[in-house]
Amino acid sequence: MIKYKLICKDCKNIFDSWFSNSKEYEKLKKKKYLNCHICDSRKIEKTLMAPNVLNRLELKNKDINKIKEIKSKLREFKKFIKDNFKYVGDNFAHEARSIHYDSKKKKKAIYGKASREEIEDLKQEGINTEEFPWIEDKEN
Ligand SMILES: [Zn+2]
Repeated sequence: MIKYKLICKDCKNIFDSWFSNSKEYEKLKKKKYLNCHICDSRKIEKTLMAPNVLNRLELKNKDINKIKEIKSKLREFKKFIKDNFKYVGDNFAHEARSIHYDSKKKKKAIYGKASREEIEDLKQEGINTEEFPWIEDKEN
């Protein structure tokens, strides 16, 4: 449902009217089914969108801002990882194991790519990993 504020061109009366969608409004207007309740004129025009529609648009923008906020947090996180962890690429599972099992090897923080199965295996071996979405810099 969509609410439009309609205005009568003849007497300038403004009133709200509900339509199932914008097409229905166009259809009714074409067939001259829209009339002014005061002067019965058929010269009805749409004015600004009614507040309820605006609110829905604002909510959408809020969602978009939230997504942007999360993405920028992820980007910060990514930077932190890059600055503090050693990148091991596809060797992640192997490297994680060698650090875990080799007690002489200095513990170091690593990051890289691993498949879901590899992560499951590591978990079962008691090697804790953290997963997080990795976003590309080009994304906004
Ligand atoms: Zn009127």
